[in-house]
Amino acid sequence: MAEMKNAPINVNGRTYRWMDRPLVVVCVDGCEPDYITQAMQAGVAPYLRELCEKGTSLLGDAVVPSFTNPNNLSIVTGTPPAVHGICGNYFYDRDADKEVMMNDPQYLRAGTIIAKFSQAGAKVAVVTAKDKLRTLLGHQVKDGICFSAEKANDTSKAKNGIDDALGFVGLPLPSVYSAHLSEFVFAAGVKLLETRKPDLIYLSTTDYVQHKDAPGTPGANEFYKMMDGYLKKLDQLGATVALTADHGMNAKTDAKGDPNVIYLQDTLDQWLGKDVARVILPITDPYVVHHGALGSFATAYLPAGAKIGEIVARIAALPGIEVVYDRASGCRRFELPEDRMGDIIIVSERLTVLGTSRERHDLSGLNVPLRSHGGISEQTVPLLFNRRANGIDRSRRLRNFDVFDIALNHLQ
Ligand SMILES: [Zn+2]
Repeated sequence: MAEMKNAPINVNGRTYRWMDRPLVVVCVDGCEPDYITQAMQAGVAPYLRELCEKGTSLLGDAVVPSFTNPNNLSIVTGTPPAVHGICGNYFYDRDADKEVMMNDPQYLRAGTIIAKFSQAGAKVAVVTAKDKLRTLLGHQVKDGICFSAEKANDTSKAKNGIDDALGFVGLPLPSVYSAHLSEFVFAAGVKLLETRKPDLIYLSTTDYVQHKDAPGTPGANEFYKMMDGYLKKLDQLGATVALTADHGMNAKTDAKGDPNVIYLQDTLDQWLGKDVARVILPITDPYVVHHGALGSFATAYLPAGAKIGEIVARIAALPGIEVVYDRASGCRRFELPEDRMGDIIIVSERLTVLGTSRERHDLSGLNVPLRSHGGISEQTVPLLFNRRANGIDRSRRLRNFDVFDIALNHLQ
């Protein structure tokens, strides 16, 4: 049933008030809170400083695995992966004996807040850095705009709701491995707000810079300075600006700068026999140059009859491991869909990442010490708003996927 324009919207059991001015929700990929603190300290983010003073600065927990797709989908659905189904870049389909990419909407089990508003008559726009997220985030959006910076040179009214997005934004097509990819997203947001005036804009950047540059370093500060300028423009154009992140980011190295890797497939091969178990790293995707597909979260499929409790205990005893669970316990703790996880779930500590086999990770593209994410140690992210919030229960555990709730239901 079509809902009335301007009436509150119900999505996945939560209610959202209609926006009283344009709402721009920004998911800054890999935005460990310290990036913002350090940029403000260095004096390169005056707008963010003002926002924190006059608006609202909170912290929230991202979803574990603290990866890009599960968290973007949590943010736009307002639910954990147990509800929306996207728990990584891919999963292993045991029956079909196939590893399946989950970047197709057929794997999405919940509707998005963006789609629901568009169906109720709101003008919406979604701009992502990488194209891999575009179809998921644009799923069931009605008469809206949805394109990626990566493929901005290949848009059409029929597919993306806009012809020639590249010409519209007016910047050169950015490389997929560059800070410009994210800048393009912000520039598109400003241009959209200036010209098309959507009611709701969702912007999702890429963590290319955060994988390379630690908080407070020149490369990082330059990125946040760039971002600060665009956020200020969005604010000046009269938007409610709401910012969060899909996950944080940490160095995953020893003091020398070498990656701390536990090669889980090699370990399980040693214990159980070659390829008896199958380790899945849900961070793996077509863009792995900057992290070598190494993150702090893994799941493993074990053969029938395997002594799961024993294997859990053995892995848990390895140095650098934070927690290991059997599927049911892990899915309960992290709110994950059981049918898309292996028999055990493994999370490594802040300075350690998980790999499959040593020879399957090409680390030659890593020209700086490894920084990555995926674990509990990258779970805390900022929740920033350019207006004051009220009525938030301080005892409530805030999540990054509460960003729409706070932006629409709790700002003064
Ligand atoms: Zn990310």
